[in-house]
Amino acid sequence: MKLPYERPHIRKLTAGPPSKFGPRPGQQPVTELDGVPVTALAARYGSPLFVLSERQLRRNYQAAVRAFGTRYPQVQLAWSYKTNYLNAVCRVFHQEGAWAEVVSGFELEKALGNGVPGHQILFNGPGKRRADLLRAAEVDAVIHLDHADELHLLLELAAGLPQRPRVALRINLDAGTFPQWDRFGFNLENGQAWQAIERLAAAADRVELIGLHCHIGTFVLQPAAYGVAAGKLAALAQRCARELQAPIQYLDLGGGFPSTNTLKGAYLPGPDTVPPLDDYAEAITQALLGAGFRPDELPLLILEAGRVLVDDAGSLLGSVLATKRLADGRRATIVDFGVNLLFTSYWYDHLISPTRDYSPQTETTVLYGPLCMNIDVLREAVSLPLLAPGDLLVVHKVGAYNMSQWQQFITLRPNVVLIDMQGEVHVVREAETLAYLQQLEKVPGHLR
Ligand SMILES: *Cc1c(COP(=O)(O)O)cnc(C)c1O
Repeated sequence: MKLPYERPHIRKLTAGPPSKFGPRPGQQPVTELDGVPVTALAARYGSPLFVLSERQLRRNYQAAVRAFGTRYPQVQLAWSYKTNYLNAVCRVFHQEGAWAEVVSGFELEKALGNGVPGHQILFNGPGKRRADLLRAAEVDAVIHLDHADELHLLLELAAGLPQRPRVALRINLDAGTFPQWDRFGFNLENGQAWQAIERLAAAADRVELIGLHCHIGTFVLQPAAYGVAAGKLAALAQRCARELQAPIQYLDLGGGFPSTNTLKGAYLPGPDTVPPLDDYAEAITQALLGAGFRPDELPLLILEAGRVLVDDAGSLLGSVLATKRLADGRRATIVDFGVNLLFTSYWYDHLISPTRDYSPQTETTVLYGPLCMNIDVLREAVSLPLLAPGDLLVVHKVGAYNMSQWQQFITLRPNVVLIDMQGEVHVVREAETLAYLQQLEKVPGHLR
Protein backbone atom coordinates (compact mmCIF):
# COMPACT_ATOMS: atom_id res chain seq x y z
CA MET A 1 0.00 0.00 0.00
CA LYS A 2 1.20 3.48 -0.79
CA LEU A 3 1.80 5.42 2.43
CA PRO A 4 0.28 8.87 2.75
CA TYR A 5 2.69 11.72 2.11
CA GLU A 6 4.10 13.44 5.17
CA ARG A 7 5.82 16.77 4.83
CA PRO A 8 9.51 16.85 5.81
CA HIS A 9 10.14 17.87 9.37
CA ILE A 10 13.34 18.83 11.22
CA ARG A 11 13.43 18.56 14.98
CA LYS A 12 16.18 19.06 17.53
CA LEU A 13 16.96 15.80 19.31
CA THR A 14 16.71 16.09 23.07
CA ALA A 15 18.12 13.59 25.50
CA GLY A 16 16.28 12.49 28.63
CA PRO A 17 12.55 12.22 29.26
CA PRO A 18 10.46 13.56 26.39
CA SER A 19 8.47 15.89 28.66
CA LYS A 20 8.14 16.88 32.30
CA PHE A 21 5.69 14.02 32.75
CA GLY A 22 8.14 11.40 31.56
CA PRO A 23 7.16 8.97 28.85
CA ARG A 24 3.40 8.90 28.21
CA PRO A 25 1.69 6.61 25.76
CA GLY A 26 1.72 8.06 22.28
CA GLN A 27 -1.34 9.41 20.52
CA GLN A 28 -3.44 6.44 19.52
CA PRO A 29 -5.57 7.03 16.46
CA VAL A 30 -9.33 7.01 17.06
CA THR A 31 -10.78 5.39 13.96
CA GLU A 32 -14.36 4.81 15.18
CA LEU A 33 -16.90 6.36 17.49
CA ASP A 34 -19.20 3.76 19.07
CA GLY A 35 -18.26 1.36 16.31
CA VAL A 36 -18.97 3.75 13.43
CA PRO A 37 -15.90 4.65 11.32
CA VAL A 38 -15.12 8.35 11.57
CA THR A 39 -14.47 8.51 7.84
CA ALA A 40 -18.02 7.25 7.19
CA LEU A 41 -19.45 9.82 9.62
CA ALA A 42 -17.62 12.70 7.95
CA ALA A 43 -18.48 11.49 4.45
CA ARG A 44 -22.19 11.16 5.25
CA TYR A 45 -22.81 14.07 7.63
CA GLY A 46 -20.03 16.51 6.82
CA SER A 47 -17.21 18.10 8.76
CA PRO A 48 -17.29 19.50 11.35
CA LEU A 49 -19.77 17.20 13.07
CA PHE A 50 -20.86 16.78 16.68
CA VAL A 51 -21.28 13.12 17.61
CA LEU A 52 -23.18 12.03 20.72
CA SER A 53 -23.07 8.56 22.23
CA GLU A 54 -26.37 7.32 23.62
CA ARG A 55 -24.51 4.45 25.25
CA GLN A 56 -22.25 6.82 27.17
CA LEU A 57 -25.16 9.09 28.18
CA ARG A 58 -26.99 6.13 29.71
CA ARG A 59 -23.84 4.74 31.27
CA ASN A 60 -23.08 8.07 32.95
CA TYR A 61 -26.62 8.45 34.22
CA GLN A 62 -26.72 4.95 35.64
CA ALA A 63 -23.32 5.42 37.27
CA ALA A 64 -24.54 8.58 38.98
CA VAL A 65 -27.71 6.88 40.23
CA ARG A 66 -25.57 4.03 41.52
CA ALA A 67 -23.09 6.36 43.25
CA PHE A 68 -25.81 8.15 45.23
CA GLY A 69 -28.54 5.51 45.33
CA THR A 70 -26.34 2.86 46.95
CA ARG A 71 -25.52 5.30 49.78
CA TYR A 72 -28.83 7.02 50.50
CA PRO A 73 -32.42 5.77 50.46
CA GLN A 74 -34.15 8.47 48.39
CA VAL A 75 -32.32 10.03 45.47
CA GLN A 76 -33.57 11.91 42.41
CA LEU A 77 -31.54 13.36 39.55
CA ALA A 78 -32.76 16.44 37.67
CA TRP A 79 -31.12 16.98 34.29
CA SER A 80 -29.62 20.46 33.94
CA TYR A 81 -31.11 21.62 30.64
CA LYS A 82 -28.66 24.42 29.90
CA THR A 83 -25.76 21.94 29.85
CA ASN A 84 -27.13 20.41 26.65
CA TYR A 85 -30.77 20.95 25.80
CA LEU A 86 -30.94 19.08 22.53
CA ASN A 87 -34.22 17.20 22.88
CA ALA A 88 -32.63 13.85 22.04
CA VAL A 89 -30.17 14.21 24.92
CA CYS A 90 -32.87 15.36 27.36
CA ARG A 91 -35.13 12.48 26.37
CA VAL A 92 -32.42 9.89 26.96
CA PHE A 93 -32.06 11.19 30.51
CA HIS A 94 -35.82 11.44 31.06
CA GLN A 95 -36.18 7.84 29.85
CA GLU A 96 -33.61 6.91 32.48
CA GLY A 97 -35.76 8.64 35.10
CA ALA A 98 -34.40 12.18 35.33
CA TRP A 99 -36.50 15.17 36.27
CA ALA A 100 -35.71 18.50 34.59
CA GLU A 101 -33.78 21.45 36.02
CA VAL A 102 -34.43 24.61 33.99
CA VAL A 103 -33.29 28.22 34.28
CA SER A 104 -35.54 30.15 31.89
CA GLY A 105 -39.06 30.26 30.53
CA PHE A 106 -37.96 28.78 27.25
CA GLU A 107 -36.20 25.87 28.97
CA LEU A 108 -39.36 25.27 31.01
CA GLU A 109 -41.37 24.96 27.79
CA LYS A 110 -38.71 22.66 26.33
CA ALA A 111 -38.98 20.34 29.33
CA LEU A 112 -42.79 20.29 29.10
CA GLY A 113 -42.45 19.59 25.37
CA ASN A 114 -40.21 16.65 26.21
CA GLY A 115 -43.03 15.17 28.26
CA VAL A 116 -41.74 16.00 31.74
CA PRO A 117 -44.69 16.49 34.10
CA GLY A 118 -44.70 19.97 35.66
CA HIS A 119 -44.24 18.65 39.18
CA GLN A 120 -40.93 17.09 38.09
CA ILE A 121 -39.48 20.40 36.88
CA LEU A 122 -37.25 22.51 39.11
CA PHE A 123 -37.12 26.13 38.01
CA ASN A 124 -33.86 27.86 38.97
CA GLY A 125 -32.23 31.09 37.88
CA PRO A 126 -31.95 34.74 38.86
CA GLY A 127 -33.92 36.10 35.91
CA LYS A 128 -37.43 34.65 36.05
CA ARG A 129 -40.03 37.01 34.60
CA ARG A 130 -43.53 37.56 35.91
CA ALA A 131 -44.92 35.45 33.04
CA ASP A 132 -42.41 32.68 33.81
CA LEU A 133 -43.50 32.53 37.44
CA LEU A 134 -47.16 32.35 36.44
CA ARG A 135 -46.46 29.62 33.91
CA ALA A 136 -44.40 27.63 36.45
CA ALA A 137 -47.21 27.93 39.02
CA GLU A 138 -49.76 26.88 36.40
CA VAL A 139 -47.91 23.65 35.58
CA ASP A 140 -46.95 23.02 39.24
CA ALA A 141 -43.18 23.26 38.69
CA VAL A 142 -41.15 23.93 41.83
CA ILE A 143 -39.94 27.53 41.81
CA HIS A 144 -36.46 27.88 43.31
CA LEU A 145 -36.51 31.43 44.64
CA ASP A 146 -33.30 33.36 44.04
CA HIS A 147 -33.76 36.72 45.76
CA ALA A 148 -36.13 38.77 47.90
CA ASP A 149 -37.64 40.74 45.02
CA GLU A 150 -38.63 37.48 43.36
CA LEU A 151 -40.04 36.17 46.62
CA HIS A 152 -42.22 39.26 47.01
CA LEU A 153 -43.32 39.16 43.38
CA LEU A 154 -44.35 35.53 43.78
CA LEU A 155 -46.27 36.25 46.99
CA GLU A 156 -48.09 39.02 45.15
CA LEU A 157 -48.91 36.72 42.20
CA ALA A 158 -49.85 33.81 44.46
CA ALA A 159 -52.64 35.84 46.07
CA GLY A 160 -54.53 35.58 42.79
CA LEU A 161 -53.82 31.90 42.06
CA PRO A 162 -56.18 28.98 42.61
CA GLN A 163 -53.49 26.77 44.17
CA ARG A 164 -50.42 27.42 46.29
CA PRO A 165 -47.21 27.46 44.18
CA ARG A 166 -44.58 25.06 45.48
CA VAL A 167 -41.24 26.74 46.15
CA ALA A 168 -37.74 25.96 47.31
CA LEU A 169 -35.14 28.44 48.45
CA ARG A 170 -31.78 28.74 46.75
CA ILE A 171 -29.16 29.18 49.45
CA ASN A 172 -25.58 30.33 49.02
CA LEU A 173 -23.18 29.43 51.76
CA ASP A 174 -19.54 29.12 52.70
CA ALA A 175 -18.53 25.58 51.77
CA GLY A 176 -14.82 26.36 51.80
CA THR A 177 -14.53 26.87 48.04
CA PHE A 178 -12.90 29.95 46.61
CA PRO A 179 -14.20 32.14 45.11
CA GLN A 180 -17.47 31.63 46.96
CA TRP A 181 -20.51 31.83 44.68
CA ASP A 182 -22.70 34.36 46.48
CA ARG A 183 -24.55 35.95 43.59
CA PHE A 184 -27.29 33.33 43.42
CA GLY A 185 -29.77 32.74 46.18
CA PHE A 186 -30.07 33.88 49.79
CA ASN A 187 -26.97 33.92 51.94
CA LEU A 188 -26.97 31.52 54.86
CA GLU A 189 -24.32 33.01 57.12
CA ASN A 190 -25.64 36.58 57.18
CA GLY A 191 -29.17 35.54 58.07
CA GLN A 192 -30.79 36.36 54.71
CA ALA A 193 -31.83 32.75 54.16
CA TRP A 194 -33.54 32.42 57.53
CA GLN A 195 -35.32 35.73 57.02
CA ALA A 196 -36.70 34.47 53.70
CA ILE A 197 -37.79 31.21 55.30
CA GLU A 198 -39.66 33.10 58.04
CA ARG A 199 -41.31 35.26 55.39
CA LEU A 200 -42.45 32.15 53.50
CA ALA A 201 -43.64 30.46 56.70
CA ALA A 202 -45.75 33.51 57.47
CA ALA A 203 -47.32 33.22 54.01
CA ALA A 204 -47.90 29.47 54.18
CA ASP A 205 -51.51 29.99 53.12
CA ARG A 206 -50.25 31.35 49.77
CA VAL A 207 -47.05 29.38 48.98
CA GLU A 208 -45.71 26.00 50.05
CA LEU A 209 -42.02 25.76 50.95
CA ILE A 210 -40.92 22.21 50.16
CA GLY A 211 -37.17 22.32 49.49
CA LEU A 212 -33.79 23.88 50.11
CA HIS A 213 -31.31 24.16 47.27
CA CYS A 214 -27.71 25.12 46.74
CA HIS A 215 -25.35 24.85 43.77
CA ILE A 216 -21.91 25.83 45.03
CA GLY A 217 -20.08 26.13 41.71
CA THR A 218 -19.09 24.26 38.60
CA PHE A 219 -16.17 21.88 38.02
CA VAL A 220 -15.71 21.85 41.80
CA LEU A 221 -12.70 19.68 42.59
CA GLN A 222 -13.24 19.34 46.35
CA PRO A 223 -15.75 16.64 47.35
CA ALA A 224 -15.42 17.83 50.96
CA ALA A 225 -17.07 21.14 50.03
CA TYR A 226 -20.25 19.23 49.21
CA GLY A 227 -20.15 17.58 52.61
CA VAL A 228 -20.01 21.02 54.24
CA ALA A 229 -22.87 22.31 52.07
CA ALA A 230 -25.02 19.22 52.75
CA GLY A 231 -24.42 19.52 56.50
CA LYS A 232 -25.43 23.19 56.49
CA LEU A 233 -28.57 22.58 54.42
CA ALA A 234 -29.54 19.70 56.71
CA ALA A 235 -29.13 21.89 59.81
CA LEU A 236 -31.25 24.58 58.18
CA ALA A 237 -33.98 22.06 57.32
CA GLN A 238 -34.00 20.84 60.92
CA ARG A 239 -34.33 24.40 62.17
CA CYS A 240 -37.36 24.86 59.88
CA ALA A 241 -39.03 21.79 61.35
CA ARG A 242 -38.15 22.71 64.93
CA GLU A 243 -38.89 26.43 65.02
CA LEU A 244 -41.53 26.85 62.33
CA GLN A 245 -43.15 23.40 62.18
CA ALA A 246 -42.39 23.59 58.43
CA PRO A 247 -40.83 20.26 57.44
CA ILE A 248 -38.63 20.34 54.33
CA GLN A 249 -39.28 17.54 51.82
CA TYR A 250 -36.07 17.73 49.82
CA LEU A 251 -32.51 18.97 49.89
CA ASP A 252 -31.09 19.76 46.46
CA LEU A 253 -27.29 19.86 46.34
CA GLY A 254 -27.20 21.14 42.76
CA GLY A 255 -24.58 20.08 40.23
CA GLY A 256 -21.01 21.22 39.65
CA PHE A 257 -19.37 17.78 39.56
CA PRO A 258 -16.38 17.81 37.21
CA SER A 259 -15.90 15.78 34.06
CA THR A 260 -12.49 14.32 33.31
CA ASN A 261 -11.51 17.14 31.00
CA THR A 262 -8.19 18.88 31.62
CA LEU A 263 -8.47 22.46 32.81
CA LYS A 264 -6.25 24.95 30.99
CA GLY A 265 -3.01 25.38 32.86
CA ALA A 266 -3.46 22.18 34.88
CA TYR A 267 -0.20 20.38 35.51
CA LEU A 268 -1.61 16.89 35.03
CA PRO A 269 -4.33 15.55 32.73
CA GLY A 270 -7.91 15.52 34.06
CA PRO A 271 -8.31 11.73 34.20
CA ASP A 272 -5.32 11.59 36.61
CA THR A 273 -6.60 14.28 38.97
CA VAL A 274 -10.39 14.62 38.94
CA PRO A 275 -12.04 12.86 41.92
CA PRO A 276 -14.60 10.18 41.01
CA LEU A 277 -18.30 10.92 41.49
CA ASP A 278 -18.31 8.33 44.30
CA ASP A 279 -16.22 10.70 46.43
CA TYR A 280 -18.85 13.43 46.05
CA ALA A 281 -21.67 11.00 46.76
CA GLU A 282 -19.86 9.79 49.85
CA ALA A 283 -19.30 13.32 51.18
CA ILE A 284 -22.92 14.38 50.62
CA THR A 285 -24.64 11.26 51.89
CA GLN A 286 -22.39 10.92 54.95
CA ALA A 287 -23.23 14.50 55.90
CA LEU A 288 -26.96 13.88 55.49
CA LEU A 289 -27.01 10.49 57.22
CA GLY A 290 -25.02 11.92 60.11
CA ALA A 291 -27.10 15.07 60.49
CA GLY A 292 -29.49 13.62 63.07
CA PHE A 293 -32.66 13.12 61.01
CA ARG A 294 -34.92 10.31 62.21
CA PRO A 295 -34.76 7.57 59.55
CA ASP A 296 -38.38 8.22 58.54
CA GLU A 297 -37.67 11.96 58.27
CA LEU A 298 -34.73 11.79 55.88
CA PRO A 299 -35.39 14.31 53.12
CA LEU A 300 -35.29 13.37 49.45
CA LEU A 301 -31.82 14.11 48.03
CA ILE A 302 -31.88 15.83 44.64
CA LEU A 303 -28.84 16.33 42.40
CA GLU A 304 -28.78 18.57 39.35
CA ALA A 305 -25.76 17.07 37.63
CA GLY A 306 -24.97 18.54 34.23
CA ARG A 307 -21.42 18.38 32.95
CA VAL A 308 -20.50 15.03 34.56
CA LEU A 309 -23.39 13.28 32.76
CA VAL A 310 -22.79 14.53 29.25
CA ASP A 311 -19.29 15.85 28.70
CA ASP A 312 -17.61 12.59 27.73
CA ALA A 313 -20.62 11.49 25.65
CA GLY A 314 -19.92 14.13 23.01
CA SER A 315 -17.13 14.35 20.43
CA LEU A 316 -16.41 16.83 17.72
CA LEU A 317 -15.15 15.50 14.42
CA GLY A 318 -13.37 18.05 12.29
CA SER A 319 -10.77 18.34 9.59
CA VAL A 320 -7.55 20.08 8.85
CA LEU A 321 -7.87 22.92 6.35
CA ALA A 322 -4.22 23.91 6.16
CA THR A 323 -0.92 23.95 7.96
CA LYS A 324 1.47 26.87 7.90
CA ARG A 325 4.55 28.26 9.59
CA LEU A 326 4.23 31.41 11.70
CA ALA A 327 6.73 34.27 11.61
CA ASP A 328 8.33 33.06 14.83
CA GLY A 329 8.87 29.60 13.42
CA ARG A 330 6.01 27.83 15.17
CA ARG A 331 3.84 25.39 13.29
CA ALA A 332 0.19 26.41 12.91
CA THR A 333 -2.73 24.18 11.93
CA ILE A 334 -6.05 25.57 10.75
CA VAL A 335 -9.10 23.36 11.29
CA ASP A 336 -12.72 23.71 10.22
CA PHE A 337 -14.19 24.24 13.72
CA GLY A 338 -13.57 27.31 15.83
CA VAL A 339 -14.25 28.68 19.30
CA ASN A 340 -17.74 29.54 18.04
CA LEU A 341 -18.53 25.81 18.17
CA LEU A 342 -16.21 24.90 21.00
CA PHE A 343 -16.98 27.33 23.76
CA THR A 344 -15.28 25.10 26.33
CA SER A 345 -11.91 25.58 24.65
CA TYR A 346 -11.71 28.75 26.77
CA TRP A 347 -11.55 26.50 29.88
CA TYR A 348 -10.16 23.17 28.76
CA ASP A 349 -7.16 21.77 26.98
CA HIS A 350 -9.27 19.26 25.06
CA LEU A 351 -7.77 15.93 24.16
CA ILE A 352 -7.47 15.80 20.37
CA SER A 353 -6.81 12.54 18.55
CA PRO A 354 -5.70 11.74 15.04
CA THR A 355 -7.95 9.31 13.22
CA ARG A 356 -5.45 7.21 11.28
CA ASP A 357 -1.92 5.90 11.71
CA TYR A 358 0.95 8.29 11.15
CA SER A 359 4.69 7.92 11.44
CA PRO A 360 5.97 8.43 14.99
CA GLN A 361 6.99 11.99 14.13
CA THR A 362 5.07 14.73 15.90
CA GLU A 363 5.35 18.48 15.95
CA THR A 364 4.00 20.94 18.44
CA THR A 365 1.45 23.14 16.73
CA VAL A 366 -0.89 25.95 17.61
CA LEU A 367 -4.40 24.94 16.60
CA TYR A 368 -6.50 27.66 15.00
CA GLY A 369 -10.17 27.60 14.02
CA PRO A 370 -11.41 29.00 10.70
CA LEU A 371 -12.72 32.31 12.04
CA CYS A 372 -11.16 35.54 10.87
CA MET A 373 -10.68 36.57 14.50
CA ASN A 374 -7.53 36.62 16.59
CA ILE A 375 -9.29 34.89 19.52
CA ASP A 376 -9.98 31.76 17.50
CA VAL A 377 -7.36 29.57 19.16
CA LEU A 378 -8.34 26.03 20.14
CA ARG A 379 -5.02 24.94 21.61
CA GLU A 380 -1.98 27.16 22.20
CA ALA A 381 0.38 24.23 21.78
CA VAL A 382 -0.54 20.63 21.11
CA SER A 383 1.65 17.81 19.95
CA LEU A 384 0.16 16.21 16.85
CA PRO A 385 1.41 14.01 14.02
CA LEU A 386 2.37 15.57 10.70
CA LEU A 387 -1.11 16.51 9.58
CA ALA A 388 -2.09 17.39 6.05
CA PRO A 389 -5.16 19.18 4.66
CA GLY A 390 -8.19 16.89 4.73
CA ASP A 391 -7.00 14.83 7.69
CA LEU A 392 -9.71 14.19 10.28
CA LEU A 393 -9.33 14.89 13.99
CA VAL A 394 -11.53 13.98 16.97
CA VAL A 395 -11.92 16.38 19.87
CA HIS A 396 -13.00 14.44 22.95
CA LYS A 397 -15.38 15.31 25.79
CA VAL A 398 -17.28 18.19 24.26
CA GLY A 399 -20.82 17.16 25.29
CA ALA A 400 -21.32 19.78 28.00
CA TYR A 401 -22.13 23.42 27.28
CA ASN A 402 -20.86 23.49 23.69
CA MET A 403 -24.14 22.56 22.02
CA SER A 404 -25.97 25.17 24.09
CA GLN A 405 -23.38 27.96 24.22
CA TRP A 406 -22.21 27.70 20.62
CA GLN A 407 -22.58 30.80 18.55
CA GLN A 408 -23.69 31.34 15.04
CA PHE A 409 -20.74 33.51 14.12
CA ILE A 410 -19.01 33.61 10.74
CA THR A 411 -19.83 29.97 10.04
CA LEU A 412 -23.10 28.01 10.27
CA ARG A 413 -23.58 25.41 12.97
CA PRO A 414 -23.05 21.85 11.73
CA ASN A 415 -25.02 18.61 12.02
CA VAL A 416 -25.29 16.87 15.37
CA VAL A 417 -25.73 13.10 15.29
CA LEU A 418 -26.54 10.60 18.01
CA ILE A 419 -25.25 7.03 17.75
CA ASP A 420 -27.84 4.81 19.42
CA MET A 421 -27.35 1.62 21.42
CA GLN A 422 -27.44 -0.48 18.22
CA GLY A 423 -24.87 1.68 16.45
CA GLU A 424 -27.46 3.41 14.25
CA VAL A 425 -26.69 7.04 13.48
CA HIS A 426 -29.46 9.65 13.81
CA VAL A 427 -29.30 13.34 12.95
CA VAL A 428 -30.62 15.09 16.09
CA ARG A 429 -29.98 18.63 14.89
CA GLU A 430 -29.56 19.53 11.26
CA ALA A 431 -26.82 21.75 9.96
CA GLU A 432 -27.97 25.34 9.72
CA THR A 433 -28.62 26.91 6.32
CA LEU A 434 -28.53 30.49 5.14
CA ALA A 435 -32.33 30.38 4.74
CA TYR A 436 -32.77 29.19 8.35
CA LEU A 437 -30.52 31.95 9.54
CA GLN A 438 -32.29 34.69 7.62
CA GLN A 439 -35.84 33.67 8.35
CA LEU A 440 -36.05 36.04 11.31
CA GLU A 441 -34.47 38.98 9.49
CA LYS A 442 -36.55 41.77 8.01
CA VAL A 443 -35.38 44.24 5.38
CA PRO A 444 -37.16 47.62 5.65
CA GLY A 445 -39.07 48.64 2.52
CA HIS A 446 -36.70 51.43 1.53
CA LEU A 447 -33.81 48.94 1.40
CA ARG A 448 -35.50 46.36 -0.78
C1 LIG B 1 -25.73 25.00 35.49
C2 LIG B 1 -26.41 24.48 36.69
C3 LIG B 1 -26.34 23.12 37.03
C4 LIG B 1 -25.45 22.13 36.31
O1 LIG B 1 -24.12 22.45 36.58
P1 LIG B 1 -22.89 21.48 36.16
O2 LIG B 1 -21.72 22.23 36.66
O3 LIG B 1 -22.92 21.35 34.68
O4 LIG B 1 -23.10 20.19 36.85
C5 LIG B 1 -27.09 22.68 38.11
N1 LIG B 1 -27.85 23.53 38.84
C6 LIG B 1 -27.92 24.86 38.56
C7 LIG B 1 -28.76 25.74 39.38
C8 LIG B 1 -27.20 25.37 37.48
O5 LIG B 1 -27.26 26.68 37.22
